Amino acid sequence: VAPRTVGNPVFKIYQMAWVGLDWLYPPLCGGCQEPGSRWCETCQALTERIPDTICQICGVVLLNNGICPYCDQLRPPYQSLRAWAKYSDRIRNAIHRLKYAGDIALAEILARQLIQLVQKQAWQIDIVTAVPLGVSRMKQRGFNQSALLAFPLALGIGKPFRSKAISRVRETKSQVGLTASERIDNVKDAFQAKKEIVAQKRVLLVDDVITTGSTMIACTNALLQADALEVYCIALARPMNTNVLN
Ligand SMILES: [Zn+2]
Ligand SMILES: [Zn+2]
Repeated sequence: VAPRTVGNPVFKIYQMAWVGLDWLYPPLCGGCQEPGSRWCETCQALTERIPDTICQICGVVLLNNGICPYCDQLRPPYQSLRAWAKYSDRIRNAIHRLKYAGDIALAEILARQLIQLVQKQAWQIDIVTAVPLGVSRMKQRGFNQSALLAFPLALGIGKPFRSKAISRVRETKSQVGLTASERIDNVKDAFQAKKEIVAQKRVLLVDDVITTGSTMIACTNALLQADALEVYCIALARPMNTNVLN
């Protein structure tokens, strides 16, 4: 996995520090537990990418590039949403390790995929932030897996990471197992953004996994209410069990 060289010297030092640590403490792969690297070549090769024929707005897979019927009918509040890979075993293992072990070395290597994905888009971005955890979950875990990805991503694209741009104003249930409309209700008005951080800014919003996109939509609405100019969304993975739309 040859990371694209990025001009930012802070980012280079950050990456070199991790290479040094890998040498001192040889890691296990976050996808398959094989020793030797944080994310091995096999996991990289076997992780299915989201194809290039997608809805230009929500990123859902289409037969041809265009706008999907959902976005055509009701445009999401964000400008566009992209994910790197299909949510499958190896990436699920890796995200699990980010979430429950706070593996920042693994986050750094996975964030390289997001850096490349952002660099392929014609997005104008001023600041980077992450979907926040609730206060109690944050206390339990001590870190936010989306912020672990957002920080090296921000370094890589040379934009400031603003971890406190959005907060959860009420606790929400886990989205797992909820239907699409239950998910929308579950996160509606659950977020608030800080005007002093986001006003007049174009924001890149980072999450680990997106399913229906309801959390991204709720966070985008919070950002826009706080006078953000535009919001772009990016995630490491999304399930592709839904049919390809024509
Ligand atoms: Zn592996
Ligand atoms: Zn769409």
